[in-house]
Amino acid sequence: MSEIKSTNIHWHEGDISRDERWAALKSKGATVWFTGLSGSGKSTIASAVEQALCNQGVFCYRLDGDNIRFGLNTDPKSLMGKGVPEAAAKRFGIGFSAEDRAENIRRIGEVAKLFSDAGVVALTSFISPYRKDRDFCRVLHNEARPSALPFIEIFVDTPLDVCEKRDPKGLYKKARAGEIKGFTGIDDPYEAPNNPELVLKTAELSVQQSVAKVIDLLAAKGVVTKK
Ligand code: ADP
Repeated sequence: MSEIKSTNIHWHEGDISRDERWAALKSKGATVWFTGLSGSGKSTIASAVEQALCNQGVFCYRLDGDNIRFGLNTDPKSLMGKGVPEAAAKRFGIGFSAEDRAENIRRIGEVAKLFSDAGVVALTSFISPYRKDRDFCRVLHNEARPSALPFIEIFVDTPLDVCEKRDPKGLYKKARAGEIKGFTGIDDPYEAPNNPELVLKTAELSVQQSVAKVIDLLAAKGVVTKK
């Protein structure tokens, strides 16, 4: 048991180890972190990977950028609409400033870590534009107790002009029209990973080819058994 002195909280190991839990579930946890521009294909590929893993009986769960902003990481106004007092809503609600994006990613990193510790393959699809925020999540996994958890960063590397042509949610159009401020790739930076575990060039690969590459990587890392 260890102690964080400033707050008097103690880590409780519990009675079963991670290995025992994973063995009981016949499952291994990992975080598969998809990063890339809006429209690059993160959600599409993560959903298809989820389907492929489910078909193989792998316990997996997708944490999707937009979906999480409906709940855990909702904005201050929505929190107030749910009855959260204004001061708390402003403090804990999440918007799109650099500070809020960092907190958005920090919370997701912690949630993904919990999922993977539980024995789930957590598939996260967040633009996560800032390198230091993603690296923070990698460190969280590296420093997990009692031992590191796999953190597999996948750069969905799609050129801006291709993303903009796809524009599946019409967001680039709005950003170009000045209706959305601080949009990644337009007037907010995207910092590509320096050493991702995998790069998917979706302008050259079909969705199924990308899925195969992800599954092959998970098999090579011993997270899943290739069928
Ligand atoms: P993101 O989650 O990165 O914002 P989405 O997955 O929501 O991106 O949108 C990507 C869009 O690009 C989808 O409409 C998808 O059908 C389309 N698309 C076209 N070709 C590909 C490809 N090879 N890989 C992934 N997505 C593709």
